[in-house]
Amino acid sequence: MKDPRLETITFDFGSVHFGYGWIFPKRDHLNVGVFRSRPGRKTTRQQLLRFIDKHPVLSKASITDLRAFPGSLGINSDVYQQGNVLLAGDAASLVDPWLGEGLTPALLSGKIAGETLIDYLDGAIPDLTVYSRRINSEIAFQFTYAKRLSLLINACPGFSVRLLHSSATLQMMIIDLLAGNRTYQDVYRSIFRLLPSKIINSFHTKNND
Ligand SMILES: Cc1cc2nc3c(=O)[nH]c(=O)nc-3n(C[C@H](O)[C@H](O)[C@H](O)COP(=O)(O)OP(=O)(O)OC[C@H]3O[C@@H](n4cnc5c(N)ncnc54)[C@H](O)[C@@H]3O)c2cc1C
Repeated sequence: MKDPRLETITFDFGSVHFGYGWIFPKRDHLNVGVFRSRPGRKTTRQQLLRFIDKHPVLSKASITDLRAFPGSLGINSDVYQQGNVLLAGDAASLVDPWLGEGLTPALLSGKIAGETLIDYLDGAIPDLTVYSRRINSEIAFQFTYAKRLSLLINACPGFSVRLLHSSATLQMMIIDLLAGNRTYQDVYRSIFRLLPSKIINSFHTKNND
């Protein structure tokens, strides 16, 4: 299906509450999906079909493979290791609870696991407990900010989407975040500075933050 609107990667933040729709062009097909991080609510086949139906070009395409995947979004856990077992990536729920990004945390936690094991085998550390501390301080603490970003943005989705559409600064910030050049904490603070005080106050009241 040749159409210039489908030749670049699309993230559509206005299409799904507490999530987004994506379109990734592949060589001979499109990878299309919806992601949602709404606590306690499932993402449904209907949400994906609605996203496809509403798209001016996608709605004419044929669907050849429809699948769902469970996510294990970042939770506040202090323990990522027990005895000689280290949990990394999805197995440790190292997936950001705003955008569902899990590739960078998976690679990073794998690297930290390798470094911890080398230190242990070299006799530099007495046990593997340092792994949990490193995962918390180098990866998982950022999920607190990712979760706040999700709550903040989804508290007023219409306004957030308009802001995102109109602000090149914000768009660059999210691209930098996805590229690993910015932290969630940094983005959270920057977005807070962009929002009108009325929205910030109502967010504080709702989330007691
Ligand atoms: C549809 C979808 C889209 C996503 N898009 C993005 C994205 O755009 N960006 C992003 O950052 N993240 C994305 N994620 C999340 C990301 O893919 C995962 O967080 C990441 O792949 C986790 O890496 P992992 O190594 O922990 O697990 P996995 O990538 O799942 O790797 C685990 C591997 O272990 C194998 N395995 C399982 N059980 C056994 C067994 N018993 N014996 C041997 N092997 C076994 C599996 O086959 C698999 O190959 C997406 C996830 C999904 C489902």
